[in-house]
This record gives sequence, C-alpha cells and structure tokens, in this order.
Amino acid sequence: MNNKILILGPCAAESAAQMDAVAVLLKDVLHAAGTQYEQVFRAGLWKPRSQPSSFQGVGTEGLPWLIKAAATVGCPAATEVAQPEHLLAAYEAGIRQFWIGARTTSNPFMVEALATAPIEDKQSVTWYVKNPTSPDVELWCGAIERLQRAGYTHVRAIHRGFALGEHTASAYRNTPMWSVPIEFKRRYPTVPLLTDASHIAGSAGRVSEVAEQAMRMGMNGLMIEVHNNPVEALSDAEQQLTPQALRELLQHIAQVGAAANTPSGAELAALRQQIDETDDELWALLSRRMDIARQIGDYKRRNGLPVLQQARYDELLRRRIRWAQEHGIDPAAAKQMMDIIHEQSVLAQL
Ligand code: PEP
Ligand code: MN
Repeated sequence: MNNKILILGPCAAESAAQMDAVAVLLKDVLHAAGTQYEQVFRAGLWKPRSQPSSFQGVGTEGLPWLIKAAATVGCPAATEVAQPEHLLAAYEAGIRQFWIGARTTSNPFMVEALATAPIEDKQSVTWYVKNPTSPDVELWCGAIERLQRAGYTHVRAIHRGFALGEHTASAYRNTPMWSVPIEFKRRYPTVPLLTDASHIAGSAGRVSEVAEQAMRMGMNGLMIEVHNNPVEALSDAEQQLTPQALRELLQHIAQVGAAANTPSGAELAALRQQIDETDDELWALLSRRMDIARQIGDYKRRNGLPVLQQARYDELLRRRIRWAQEHGIDPAAAKQMMDIIHEQSVLAQL
C-alpha cells in the first residue's frame, strides 16, 4: 500500500466525443502530476439515479468508449456495476475494475448476486465497495466479506459519505461522518480505503478541502470526478472538476503529502500525552454525570415522575448547540454527542 490510488474520470460516459476529450485532457494532467499514484480511469455506464427522468447512463454502448479513453490515459478502466448483467458485459469487454455504488451496497441481495456471478478469472478483478447510504459499518463490511468469500482477493473500499437528510448541519452533499471509515479501517487495516471527495463535497469548490482531509487522515487514495466541460455534464454537473481544477488539486495534495512526511516525533508524543490526560478527565466527568443521573432517577421514582422530560432535554440541547456554535464545534456533532449522553442518562435512570 505504498502508492496512493487515484480514480479519476467523469461521473458518466455521455458520448464517444466526450470520453475522448476528457481522456486527452486527463492524460496531460496526470503526466504533470508524476507517477506517485496508481491511476484508474472511471466513468459510469449504468447510473443509479434517484429520478427516472434523469440521465440513466448509456449502458453497454459506452463500453468501447471507456476502454479507449482508459487506454489514452494509460491506465485501467473502472465502472459501476449493480447487476450481474452489467458485470458480465463489462468483464466480457475486457474491463477488470468495478465499483459497487452506495445504493447497491445497501442491499445484500444485490451484493450477493454480484459476488457470485460467473467470472472466470477472479484474480484479475479489482473491486471497490462504496459505503452504503446509511452509516452502517456492518453492511459495508458485509459487502466486503461477500466478495472475499466468493474468491476475490483484490477488494478495496471507498468512503463517499452518508445521506442523512436535512437534519445535519453538514456543509457537504453527503455528511462525511469520519468515524465510520475510521471504524472500517480498524476492522480491515489491510483493505485499501479511498475517499470519494466529489460525492462527499457535492460542489466543485469543496472537493479539494475534502481531498485534503482524506490525505491528512492517511486514506489510501481518492476518487474524483473530472469532466471536460462540467457545466454541460448530464449528471453531477455541480461537483465535477475541470482538468485545470484537478491539476491544482493534485498540486495541493502533493504539498499536503510532503508536509505529512516531515518528522515531528517529540512534539507529537507530547501532544498525545496531553490528549490521554484530557481523556482521563473527560471520562471521570462523564462517570460523575452518570452518578448524578442515577440519583435523579431515584428521586423521580420516589415522586412518581416520568424519566423522560422532553422540555428539559430540549432546553439542554438548545443550550449545548448554541455553546458549540460559539466554540467552533460542529453543531451536528454536538447534537450527536449530547444525544448519546442523554440516552445513557435516561437508561441509567430506568
Ligand atoms: C458514482 O460514483 O458515480 C456514484 C453514483 O456514486 P455513489 O454510489 O457513491 O453515489
Ligand atoms: Mn457522480
């Protein structure tokens, strides 16, 4: 896992001309970026769109365009497959890298059908499994295991964030919830884990910051959507980068990588010591809070009061969210933490 993996290309294959155009531009950008990356060229042929009236992808017609474009760039081609028919058609055409999209990972029947489809040379295939749309690490791991059990050994994962609706204060299209890929990495330390900065960010202007976060976190690579003419793209127009924007992003990432490799041993050890001590204090406080909750539980029992008093919790939450905003803490994260603390407190009172 030395080289970082870079999966680049348009959201979708739209026409032979568009694929030729993006491939020629990408080739130049990658040439300038050097060889410190394992490169893969992506384009979706079968697009899982929320609305049936949206562009659904060109299907098998785009297979030769994809293969030609990847050859121009000089790297393997990858595409999304959701059904055995997609996989078999792409494999037959010579494609050997496939990703399972978030909506498909969410469905174990579909993952099983892909894992058990009759592929002759499984060792020649590389799979990428995107996280499911909900923050369910079991479902994500289950998909990885289905592929491994079916005999695939080149299995990688892609973090593309989570659809949590309008309840989160996330500035991105998908909430990253970094705790989920961190847990994934803890369970599968040897499975390369990439970040799909484009689908997390949702807008071209924010892709670079997500990519930087991923690199600083030590992720093994990036998936980034690039289009020759993003404004005219038939899908995900807002988030696709121009080749020039990609060039700038790669320069930025290379600087982040260089800074991350600078040794800082003693300073880091001292800061970690402080973190450990702060955690000790934090947990001592949480334990004191639980003791108080148990005493409140006794009081409510003696006086016939209900354990859950919604108005009181609303008030606590409001105060904490305001505090978080004033102290530069993500209010959505503050709410999540407060919800867990409150739930534990309610359980202790019961
Ligand atoms: C994609 O990569 O084009 C895609 C549809 O991604 P996701 O499954 O992450 O939404
Ligand atoms: Mn897309």
